[in-house]
Amino acid sequence: MAVPKRKTSPSRRGMRRSHQALPTEAHADCSNCGELKRPHHICSACGHYDGREVVQAGKALKGAVRV
Ligand SMILES: [Zn+2]
Repeated sequence: MAVPKRKTSPSRRGMRRSHQALPTEAHADCSNCGELKRPHHICSACGHYDGREVVQAGKALKGAVRV
């Protein structure tokens, strides 16, 4: 059986794993209405965030963003 001559150094291991990072998601489904929304942002369709309604649905988010 072929066996590696040397132990893989932490540097080599890190270089190999540099390609394994998960890509960041640009979109996520709203848990309330299922609409596409940005992660960590209020849903623009229904105004929900973290399971509760933060702003009224359909209303402009202008005043709500700066909380
Ligand atoms: Zn929503």
